[in-house]
Amino acid sequence: MKHKLMNFLAKFEKGNTEQSFPLDYCLPVYHCVSDERLPHLDHIIRYKNVKQFEDDLDDLAKHFQFVTWDEFKDFFKGKFKPRKKIALLTFDDGFREFDEVVAPILERKGIYAINFINPAFIDNQDLMFRCKESLIINAIKNSALKNREIDEKDILKIGYPDKNRLDDIAEKLGIDFNFYLKQQKPYLSFSQLQSLTKKGFGISAHSWDHPLYHELSLEDQLENTVKSIKYIKENDFLSDSFAFPFTDFGVEKVFFENLFENEQLSFTFGCAGIKVDCINKNLQRIPMETGENASETLKKEIAYYQFKKFLNKNIIIRK
Ligand SMILES: [Zn+2]
Repeated sequence: MKHKLMNFLAKFEKGNTEQSFPLDYCLPVYHCVSDERLPHLDHIIRYKNVKQFEDDLDDLAKHFQFVTWDEFKDFFKGKFKPRKKIALLTFDDGFREFDEVVAPILERKGIYAINFINPAFIDNQDLMFRCKESLIINAIKNSALKNREIDEKDILKIGYPDKNRLDDIAEKLGIDFNFYLKQQKPYLSFSQLQSLTKKGFGISAHSWDHPLYHELSLEDQLENTVKSIKYIKENDFLSDSFAFPFTDFGVEKVFFENLFENEQLSFTFGCAGIKVDCINKNLQRIPMETGENASETLKKEIAYYQFKKFLNKNIIIRK
């Protein structure tokens, strides 16, 4: 057994990603690209700079053919015959840099992408709770007075159900989230979403306000999801897909059975890496903000997939 595994893993060392990639489709997911320091993302996302992102795209383009959402869906219906394995580029969270940094790069390279957004944050009406945590941690780190009533490490443990506590902590520390939202404008505006759509990019649903699904009841999971898809549909964005915020880990079959009663919905997306899901319309994406380049990430993902497959543990099972 060990010998087989060793032989297996050795194959990747030679690194023919196109051949060894185990699925027909590759789904990279990013959040942001920027050459600047973004305090709301400091402690939660290792976003890439422009050079790193362009290198990733060039790398991915060597092994895959980038497709649009329509081509992607047609591929699954057998109506689109690609030259190579396909890749659908995705972004989550609707950050402003998607319009100002990412879109110009993608337009130059002729690559399509979908951005999965949270309606609650459009126009910088509010900040996702993890971003608030990142700002609080910065404030604690920067404070000269070691007011250690609040420990950095405890901040990231505060979850979506207790997110209001973050507003209290911020007040104590003199952090003004509203001021930050106005000054920094972390998120895309509604008019940016519309202009991105006109340019041909997809804007789709990522839940209403980015909860961690396995902390919610089934009813709350469905409500948060359906509300976001409804908003997307009413505003003529891409309403036939949905990407889970954070992770779909722990989301049960009954959720999918309910959600896919909406027959317009084509696919939902998680981000568990290269994996097959027992829900065949739930596709797993590959997180690219790992601190490594695309080649390294893909090689590791492929090796891990093969290892899990060898153990018969490469399929996500749900209750
Ligand atoms: Zn997200």
